[in-house]
Amino acid sequence: MRYTTTVVIGAGHCGLAMSRCLAERSVDHVVLERGEVAHSWRTQRWDSLRLLTPNWMTRLPGFSYRGDDPDGYLGAPEVARLIEAYAAVSAAPVQTGTAVTSVRPDGCGYLLRTDQGDWHARTVVVATGAASVATVPAQLAAQVPVGVTTVTSAEYRNPGLLPGGAVLVVGASASGIQIAEELQRSGRPVTLAVGEHVRMPRTYRGRDILWWMDASGLLDERYDEVPDLLRARNLPSMQLVGSPQRATVDLDALRRLGVRLVGRLAAVRDGTAQFSGSLPNMCALADLKLGRLLDTIDAWAGKAGADADRPERFAPTEVPAPIPLSVRLAADEIGTIVWATGFRPDLSWLDVPVFDRKGRVVHDGGVTTAPGLYMMGLPFLRRRKSTLIDGAATDAHELAAHLVGHLDAVARRRAG
Ligand SMILES: Cc1cc2nc3c(=O)[nH]c(=O)nc-3n(C[C@H](O)[C@H](O)[C@H](O)COP(=O)(O)OP(=O)(O)OC[C@H]3O[C@@H](n4cnc5c(N)ncnc54)[C@H](O)[C@@H]3O)c2cc1C
Repeated sequence: MRYTTTVVIGAGHCGLAMSRCLAERSVDHVVLERGEVAHSWRTQRWDSLRLLTPNWMTRLPGFSYRGDDPDGYLGAPEVARLIEAYAAVSAAPVQTGTAVTSVRPDGCGYLLRTDQGDWHARTVVVATGAASVATVPAQLAAQVPVGVTTVTSAEYRNPGLLPGGAVLVVGASASGIQIAEELQRSGRPVTLAVGEHVRMPRTYRGRDILWWMDASGLLDERYDEVPDLLRARNLPSMQLVGSPQRATVDLDALRRLGVRLVGRLAAVRDGTAQFSGSLPNMCALADLKLGRLLDTIDAWAGKAGADADRPERFAPTEVPAPIPLSVRLAADEIGTIVWATGFRPDLSWLDVPVFDRKGRVVHDGGVTTAPGLYMMGLPFLRRRKSTLIDGAATDAHELAAHLVGHLDAVARRRAG
């Protein structure tokens, strides 16, 4: 058994940001990582993926992007290298190749079992990623006929690795639209099943849309200030793609490319995919929300006297008519379904009673109900930007301060 004050689980950017903040506060700790540093960027991303956040937004505690393309978008291998460099300059105490298999309360801290022996820590920070497992609607998956290949967006690598023929991509958020575009451009006819989505132009008034969201403070909105936190935590990702052309890839762009848009996948019966008729409503909702976002940005730009092009408004999404409500997979030669239906964390090894009845960790800005147990990297953990690389710095600073306060309080209780 080894002893330390804090075990951080996971050496992605969140775990490393926390490690840096703990080191700054002289908290003795170790970072346990089942694979290598930045493991998820090496193993769970498709080949062509680029960050949807511009490079200048790659800001971590004590470290940031220093390359010559601040307005560009890093590819996954470059992100992995950047995170590796961060671990090196931080001299983070990472122990790679160490999978944590269980964490449970033990005396005045936690017992961690790993495949490389046990650890005891007074505090634990879980930074194992919000996107560890691709979520697939199980009922629908069970209805897919034999002979149709299914892959998740975490398994997808490139068009060449899929069987020939047309493809049904389910889900039109960041992953779905990127994969749909790539497949369509590769010559595969794509049908895209669209549910609720967050429409975004890549650039607005001459600047990256994320510049506006960052500068106006929208990404800094706090978890204890939003009116409906549960909803905010469950919002789909932004429909954004990072490309050298800074192109907007929304439903209109995909339709122009030849992608067939349909509503949510509702069922697959006797080899026929059935779609909901909600596509016009989903698009109208996304258009409405985009309008509100641009209104907020314009209001801020006016007050701040931002130097920018004139305000723009985008035409409503063009919904194709008639919208197919069903598609016979074999007749349309659809041989593959890509599930781009989101991700969830894998906390199956966390043996601490901090879960609600839906299996979600109950926490207040990353502080769980179990004393000394913290979460990092979950959606809207402390701010709207918490799942972005750029969100880790403030979250880690604040949670490290809380953790030190907890250690001090325990020490005072013992002394008294
Ligand atoms: C497809 C995709 C695209 C994204 N694009 C962007 C983007 O453009 N910009 C942006 O800012 N964010 C983006 N994100 C969001 C976010 O930055 C990433 O999900 C990021 O990887 C999360 O960092 P993390 O440190 O929380 O988790 P991860 O990077 O997933 O790191 C968690 C680490 O924990 C390790 N681990 C897991 N379980 C255990 C265990 N039991 N024991 C030991 N180690 C364990 C894993 O191996 C991994 O290395 C994207 C996410 C996805 C899925």
